[in-house]
Amino acid sequence: MRTAGRMVAEILQILREQVRPGVTTFELDQLAEEQCQKRKARPAFKGYGGFPYTICASPNDRVVHGFPNQQPLVEGDIISIDFGLIIDGFYGDSAITVPVGRIAPKTEELLKVTQDSLACGIAKAVHGGHLSDISHAVQTRVEADGYSVVREFVGHGIGRQLHEDPQIPNYGIAGRGPKLKVGMTFAIEPMVNVGDPGVKVLNDGWTAVTVDGQLSAHFEHTIAVTDNGPEILTCVES
Ligand code: MG
Ligand code: MG
Repeated sequence: MRTAGRMVAEILQILREQVRPGVTTFELDQLAEEQCQKRKARPAFKGYGGFPYTICASPNDRVVHGFPNQQPLVEGDIISIDFGLIIDGFYGDSAITVPVGRIAPKTEELLKVTQDSLACGIAKAVHGGHLSDISHAVQTRVEADGYSVVREFVGHGIGRQLHEDPQIPNYGIAGRGPKLKVGMTFAIEPMVNVGDPGVKVLNDGWTAVTVDGQLSAHFEHTIAVTDNGPEILTCVES
């Protein structure tokens, strides 16, 4: 899973470097697929439940599961890129939200709060803790700054399957759910809205958007509970 996670992180870094005004998410999708082939890894999302692409590309008010398309990104946009792969029988899954050129300070704050909330959740992924400690930590961080947590989509166990039990909501009270043990691996993925927490799915059956049309951000890491605390697997070796 460390190998899978590192590859996911490497490829997301390559995609991030390509994000700029004028680039299309379809181009990013092609690049992600090429990078998988180069590593002899298989994209995790393509064909999953019929999803047709290698990445989920969700700009601005798109929350998750957006289809890559030929529309060029525009200065001031934000683009959530969610990407996973499988190699040697194990999955990695991670998401980043990237600014396109210069973005408004309020939008930067949304990205920072969402990333912070992921870090707060990961910090609770420790042996002896409870699953909902992660959920509670994410929600607390998000709501402290007046943002809202999406309820309809959740984090998940991950390993030999992309989505395994248990589900990990980004809200809830602490001290509930299964006890965490060394060796467990999770994908933790807060989706954070500027306005109302509500989302709806478009007619393509996949793309989730905010009901109020305001911005949404998404960050995700695959992590392991270890003897030394939480270990982020979807990170590039330094
Ligand atoms: Mg993901
Ligand atoms: Mg995931």
